[in-house]
Amino acid sequence: MAEIANGNVASNMDPDSWAAPAALREARLQEAKSEKLNLGPYDVVHAFWLAGMSCDGCSICVVGATSPSAEMLMAGTIPGVPRVVLHHPVLSVEAGDAFVENYRMAERGELGAPYVVIFEGSVADERLAEKHGGYWSALGAEKLPNGQSKPIPTASWLSRLAPNAAATIAIGTCATWGGVPAAAGNPTGAMGVMDFLGQNYRSDLGLPVVNIPGCSPVGDNFTETVAAVLLFLQGLGPLPEFDELGRPAWLFQETVHQRCGRAGFYEEGLFAESYGDKECLVEVGCWGPVVQCNITQRGAINGMGGCMNTGGICIGCTMPGFPDRFAPFYKMPPGSLVSTNLSRVTGTFIRTLRRLTQQFQNRTTRWDDHVPSGWGNVDKPSFAKRLVHEVYEKYQFLGTSKPGSHVDKTGEDNR
Ligand code: SF4
Ligand code: SF4
Repeated sequence: MAEIANGNVASNMDPDSWAAPAALREARLQEAKSEKLNLGPYDVVHAFWLAGMSCDGCSICVVGATSPSAEMLMAGTIPGVPRVVLHHPVLSVEAGDAFVENYRMAERGELGAPYVVIFEGSVADERLAEKHGGYWSALGAEKLPNGQSKPIPTASWLSRLAPNAAATIAIGTCATWGGVPAAAGNPTGAMGVMDFLGQNYRSDLGLPVVNIPGCSPVGDNFTETVAAVLLFLQGLGPLPEFDELGRPAWLFQETVHQRCGRAGFYEEGLFAESYGDKECLVEVGCWGPVVQCNITQRGAINGMGGCMNTGGICIGCTMPGFPDRFAPFYKMPPGSLVSTNLSRVTGTFIRTLRRLTQQFQNRTTRWDDHVPSGWGNVDKPSFAKRLVHEVYEKYQFLGTSKPGSHVDKTGEDNR
């Protein structure tokens, strides 16, 4: 097991060794370019990933992001965006004390480059665990004066690093609003980063906590926001627009329902009775009409998947009220009782008219009576249907001329 060290471990390490902390290697590189650094823009920005009460789903979604991908950010291949040096408890190559030293260097202000803090999972109230001599979630350890070592809670790292970070980004619903670990009855006192740092928190750039919710979030929502914030840090772009809860406004202002592929069924009053049906899922528990989330537009990964596309209902996982205010997930949202019944009434009427028009639009102008298809029998339109369509067509071409109306039956142009 790696020995736990206190103080400046970096001074004893060879910065050229592959096992040295990535931050140490980068700091040496940046030292050589210090003149350029002072002038900016930055070549490198460090990203310190901290995991609280988390399932690691947010890490997984970021690894799957494609527009831009985590690899593009880390390789520095996005024009204008500085290269991101990611320090991640699972993805970094260093281990043990060499890994934790990256965080210590940031705390001591020795990076020679700006850094952002990314928090995944909710922040537990470590005072509760400490009463019993334990901890909820930790990263690294430090020696106590009595010679014993003590794990450093990630909540403590957040307190240490957030004040000097260029930005603090909460990823996922646990980190943004508390999420599942903060559900009613939780024993950990779990909360979101915004609750933990307080309303007056401002990063080095003057930003409150940036919130990218979702359980797990859409990975692209995170990487795109990071790229936009980094462009701002470079002085190459405006500060992206955030809403009153710190969500990227361009990603979270519309509801799931507004972009859902099943919204047409809702409009026509057609509702699924059970999972697996193709219609709108609101009566089996979908909260999409009130939930702010763009997964129906963006998909889960690389434009693919997403809750309704794969048959799932929206349980409001991006919302501060999740999970308690959306439970029980198997029941229809109470508000839907009014809207679905109204939709049934208007939808039944509109649907009938649409099918009628559809029937006529499924015929070429040559097929007034007989449809010469060998695939199946197409019924002749009844007298009543023809009459309706005549009226429809009259209205359609009111004030303009119907295509071909200047040609008589012999093919002569009468204009
Ligand atoms: S499945 Fe949900 S989001 Fe989609 S149309 Fe129905 S209510 Fe709206
Ligand atoms: S559609 Fe609903 S359940 Fe699905 S990711 Fe968005 S908010 Fe969460």
